[in-house]
Amino acid sequence: MSNGGAFDYIVVGSGAGGGTLAARLAEAGRSVLLLEAGGDPRQLSGTNDDQPGINRLPDDYDVPSFHGFASENDAMRWDFFVRHYASDEMQQKDPKYRKEYRGSPVDGVGMGSPG
Ligand SMILES: Cc1cc2nc3c(=O)[nH]c(=O)nc-3n(C[C@H](O)[C@H](O)[C@H](O)COP(=O)(O)OP(=O)(O)OC[C@H]3O[C@@H](n4cnc5c(N)ncnc54)[C@H](O)[C@@H]3O)c2cc1C
Repeated sequence: MSNGGAFDYIVVGSGAGGGTLAARLAEAGRSVLLLEAGGDPRQLSGTNDDQPGINRLPDDYDVPSFHGFASENDAMRWDFFVRHYASDEMQQKDPKYRKEYRGSPVDGVGMGSPG
């Protein structure tokens, strides 16, 4: 770091809000440290649920037209689960319903962070 590790701003999360904010601050001449969750996609291995065992990184990260794959890559995606119905019977008909996630009961509601 050429500035000795000091920044005018530290932005946590490079989503729609944080990424835009960091870019605008940098354009205005401020020094900005932008922190994003997860590891380095060029060092990680990851795939999607349809291609178990096949490492799709770093291509899912590097190829812009692979954005759809990137959002499904298990090394980078956030796994959020929500209940769409108050009724358990209806909820369990939801194809997105997850009773368990990574071996823990979630009953439809949960979150997993990227690698
Ligand atoms: C499936 C889907 C489709 C959508 N389609 C549209 C659309 O067509 N048009 C539209 O306008 N909006 C759409 N939205 C909504 C839009 O994506 C959100 O409103 C927007 O992304 C919210 O921006 P944000 O900056 O608040 O959060 P996010 O974009 O979610 O950014 C948060 C960032 O913070 C990071 N983060 C979280 N925790 C940490 C941590 N501890 N340390 C570091 N980083 C962290 C996350 O990884 C993420 O990158 C869609 C949303 C979804 C889920």
